[in-house]
Amino acid sequence: MSEIANNISSILEKINDYAATLIAVSKTKPNDHILEAYNGGQVDFGENKVQELVSKSESLPSDIRWHMIGHLQRNKVKQIAPFVHLIHSVDSERLLMTVENEGKKINRKINCLLQVHIASESTKFGFDEPELLNLMEDQKILSLQNVSIVGLMGMATFTDNKEIIKNEFTGLKALFDQIASRNTPPHIEMKELSMGMSGDYIDALNCGSTMIRVGSSIFGSRNYA
Ligand SMILES: *Cc1c(COP(=O)(O)O)cnc(C)c1O
Repeated sequence: MSEIANNISSILEKINDYAATLIAVSKTKPNDHILEAYNGGQVDFGENKVQELVSKSESLPSDIRWHMIGHLQRNKVKQIAPFVHLIHSVDSERLLMTVENEGKKINRKINCLLQVHIASESTKFGFDEPELLNLMEDQKILSLQNVSIVGLMGMATFTDNKEIIKNEFTGLKALFDQIASRNTPPHIEMKELSMGMSGDYIDALNCGSTMIRVGSSIFGSRNYA
């Protein structure tokens, strides 16, 4: 077995007791590394740049499920709308409406997660809690037709302090449960909670994550941050 496939197996073994999906974050990594993972049975891959996502999707097997996990500009939505499996990084109402419009043009319902700002750094994107709760009562959102909001995504603060990270994950899970308990239309359903990366995915799973986004523990370190 290749080293990449090996890394995936050992992560899958560790998360075996959780009902969670492993997303292999392949940003900056070449197609042959992605194929090593794919040939080992991995089907969910995450990228953070539209151009890279589009070019990889064109040259790799068509049954790969591509996840957009990075900040998404509205003018680039149409490039990924036809094939993206799930957009994790919807961080504004305007972006959500753009996804709706692009989905309408191609008659496709596009799965989205709303990104929530849980970290203490101001650089991370996402809704804050009051914004998100307001959005959930917004008539435009309640009447979307070409978007399915299937959950939430968050990124913890970049720190070694496990308590900070766990608090942020716990807060996001509470928000997820709060929205899940509401009476929402069928296109808004809290099914997936995307949280956890190489350094913190076990903590995230213990806090209720259903999707972990793991890059460096699978493919090795990247040359840029
Ligand atoms: C790069 C990235 C990851 C994966 O990070 P690792 O620490 O390499 O596992 C997860 N989520 C997002 C949004 C990323 O940009």
